[in-house]
Amino acid sequence: MEKYYDVIIVGGRPAGASLAARLGQQGVRTLVVERAEFPSVPAASSPIIYSPALKLLDETGVKESEYAHNTPRIRRIYADNSQFQLNIPLPDVNGRDYAYAIDRARFDAALLDHASRYPSVDTRLEYAVTDLLWEEGKVVGIVGQAHGGTEEHIRAGIVVGADGRFSLVARKVNAAEHDVHSDNPTSLLYAYWKNVKPYPEATEPSAVAYEGGYGYGLLVMDSADGTTAVTMEGQADLLEAPAGKTTEFYLEKLQANPKVTARLEGAAMVTKVHGMRKIGNMYRQPGGAGWALVGDAYHQHDPLDGQGIFNALFTAKSLAWAIRYYRRGQMSWDEALEWYDETTRSKTYGMYRQTLDNVKANLYNANQQLPSWALTGLRWVMEDPTTVDLFGKLMTRQIPPEVVRMATPAIAIGALVRAPLREIRKRLLTFGE
Ligand SMILES: Cc1cc2nc3c(=O)[nH]c(=O)nc-3n(C[C@H](O)[C@H](O)[C@H](O)COP(=O)(O)OP(=O)(O)OC[C@H]3O[C@@H](n4cnc5c(N)ncnc54)[C@H](O)[C@@H]3O)c2cc1C
Repeated sequence: MEKYYDVIIVGGRPAGASLAARLGQQGVRTLVVERAEFPSVPAASSPIIYSPALKLLDETGVKESEYAHNTPRIRRIYADNSQFQLNIPLPDVNGRDYAYAIDRARFDAALLDHASRYPSVDTRLEYAVTDLLWEEGKVVGIVGQAHGGTEEHIRAGIVVGADGRFSLVARKVNAAEHDVHSDNPTSLLYAYWKNVKPYPEATEPSAVAYEGGYGYGLLVMDSADGTTAVTMEGQADLLEAPAGKTTEFYLEKLQANPKVTARLEGAAMVTKVHGMRKIGNMYRQPGGAGWALVGDAYHQHDPLDGQGIFNALFTAKSLAWAIRYYRRGQMSWDEALEWYDETTRSKTYGMYRQTLDNVKANLYNANQQLPSWALTGLRWVMEDPTTVDLFGKLMTRQIPPEVVRMATPAIAIGALVRAPLREIRKRLLTFGE
């Protein structure tokens, strides 16, 4: 006899596991199938998550002490480059004034383990979906196989693709893509290190953005169990490692910044170099007859601003609500999908545009030679307390990116007026001493 579930979720990382937990809270009979064994790292992901993501995790009931075990709290983000220096305190959001650079293997395993504790949720690891079952143009289940097992069919009311950027579900249903941006493609490489020297300006664990070489930047983040994640992101063509030489390429690119080199002196790289080339940016159709997409399978967002996990958790939340409305007969499946798409787009689209602009400004246009007066102006604007405050609020989603964009000219003018006055005051104080 074929088995039956209300919902089958393909993929068990942030989107799939948190959706399963939310469906478990509703008592929906759910099966999560995940190709990988856990704990394991995903195909590629650097680790920063901000407080809004933590709030979404609270709603699923998963314990912070489990997913962030032995992981330092990062209360300040620094930018250290030749043009300006930033020290951004993270604002208190729902009682949290910190971010984490999590251990993704531990984080993902904790989320799935938590979901599997709901009585209506079953999970199968090392189980790969190879195809979908169809009836009269509607998806009605999966074709899958446990590692070393035989092929089986499992039927479901809804099949959800939480299977990441290269989603098999999206391919099998031929999901339409839109808002695709491939004009400024980026690539990212990272590894974890031990015994990295602390950032000299910081008294607590930190995340520090440094300039790299031409067309790429570096991010050094204190992470779990005394490790440090050292990441580089830049123009895709410039971060193209020669075949078989990824580690050498990564180490050579790190040397562009003497401050990073100094911090790495005596440190040891404790993982392989991971990464992704030409990272995609797009939305896909949210669902169709008998199926839906969630997380990266639905929306892919350049990692520069560290918003991917938030998006995965948020899209899972809205899809859980859409499924609830549908199952209670409050909406047809088509209406539920429309609601899901609108809700997630209104929360994610502004930040998507903002990140695309940041990629262009910081990775593609950052190396333009500016005259010295423009560099001074840039420093005055970036180091102005209002700008610093805005950065913290933007990263933690306290202010919509659209509002920041509108306010930017006024803030810049204010900063350009305030900065010379500050400098005069500083000089007068020095003169007085
Ligand atoms: C280079 C890089 C750096 C990033 N850095 C950050 C960051 O610092 N902060 C942040 O918030 N986000 C970051 N992101 C984004 C973040 O990693 C993703 O948004 C997030 O992992 C998406 O979660 P997900 O659950 O949708 O998909 P994934 O994490 O991709 O999980 C999909 C799962 O589906 C499983 N699967 C796939 N196909 C099948 C199948 N056929 N059968 C069964 N299982 C299957 C896979 O094994 C995988 O475990 C980064 C992304 C990249 C590429």
